[in-house]
Amino acid sequence: MQTTPSFADFALAEPLLQAVQKMGFTQPTSVQREAIPRALMRRDLLVSAETGSGKTAAFLLPTLHHLLSQPSDEYGTRALVLVPTRELAKQIFQQCQQLLEFCNLQVGVITGGADFRQQQNMLRKNTEIVIATPGRLLELMAEQTPDFSHLEVLVLDEADRMLEMGFSKELQAIAAQCNKQRQTLLFSATLNHEGIIKIAERVLNAPEMVGLNTLRDQHKNIEQQVVLADDTAHKQRLLAWLLLNENFTKALVFTNSRAQADSLSGTLQAQGVRCGVLHGDMDQKNRNRIMALFRDGVISTLLATDLAARGLDIPGVELVVNFDVPRTGIHYIHRIGRTGRGDTPGLTIALVKSTEWNLMVGIERFLRQNFKHRTIEGLEGQYTGPKKLKASGKAAGSKKKKLAKKAAATKKGKKR
Ligand code: AMP
Repeated sequence: MQTTPSFADFALAEPLLQAVQKMGFTQPTSVQREAIPRALMRRDLLVSAETGSGKTAAFLLPTLHHLLSQPSDEYGTRALVLVPTRELAKQIFQQCQQLLEFCNLQVGVITGGADFRQQQNMLRKNTEIVIATPGRLLELMAEQTPDFSHLEVLVLDEADRMLEMGFSKELQAIAAQCNKQRQTLLFSATLNHEGIIKIAERVLNAPEMVGLNTLRDQHKNIEQQVVLADDTAHKQRLLAWLLLNENFTKALVFTNSRAQADSLSGTLQAQGVRCGVLHGDMDQKNRNRIMALFRDGVISTLLATDLAARGLDIPGVELVVNFDVPRTGIHYIHRIGRTGRGDTPGLTIALVKSTEWNLMVGIERFLRQNFKHRTIEGLEGQYTGPKKLKASGKAAGSKKKKLAKKAAATKKGKKR
């Protein structure tokens, strides 16, 4: 039977365990169970967590543990927490102070509506942990007060809200001034957000994803399949078959380049598929025209790149085909999130050729999910996965056979 871990199981520094106990936290919450051990390994994390889930302690505890267990002689802020609002900054500050009751680290808050000079002084005192809203922090940065050149941990809390409040540029500007070797933890109520993908790509380094259960729950009505392909021409045949034979009213096909979307459009139309292409640099009038055709069902399939599909929200998409495997797991999530809206069922199919196998496996690992492999009768290809995998499968198989033979021989021997 699996027991729920306690805070002590995370081997957190003693003063933090004392504080947690005093605060009455008896057991870690779900997001804390997932995020704390991974953050303690100094991994970058992309965490989907709602307010009230215990997310604050999920990033503060591993951050404070790191600061306590790896003392530094460097000048400047060691951990920076960026938040959307003053109120949230205050709440996190209070929780941080409670967690620091039995140790000697300093924490400060930087928000608008408070004294600028006082905040400058606080920063000059080498305050280890700074909790800030992006606007005021940038004003201080313009005066070169904060020093993030030795920053060890950057946290973006409620990143989706920060983006909704229009802080995208500010976040990027701040991250660009931070030590490149830092650990970054990004928390957001939803990961299904275009801005989040953009920010995550820029600020995180090979992140692990936390909160997959919520994400899987969000996508449990989407069936995810993989069809292996020999080359682009084979993919084209597979795609045409899918668009002519699958049961759907609206389909979205993603490619990694605009040229690919364009060339597919011609081949598909020649085969009787009613499709159109959405270009990233289309003017609004043309974009509206093509979207109206898709919405009204005049065309059933829209071909698009990630960039072109930005801001696209069309109900009733039942099929998403990844003609090219997306570059990252985050892009994958975003693409498949175009189907299965609400509780409606959705199907997503990735066409994968040999050079994309590793990318696909990386996405499966990122999502901690294995996609269903499918073949299409009459269109089966030569490619069935990497040789090494098959060879090791064979090796394992022959080893098994050898062991079985040996066991049979011993049995026989015993009988004699
Ligand atoms: P948050 O999602 O971080 O805003 O936390 C919501 C509330 O849960 C706060 O009042 C925390 O003090 C509290 N909290 C966080 N972690 C725990 C825990 N492990 N056990 C009990 N309460 C907690």
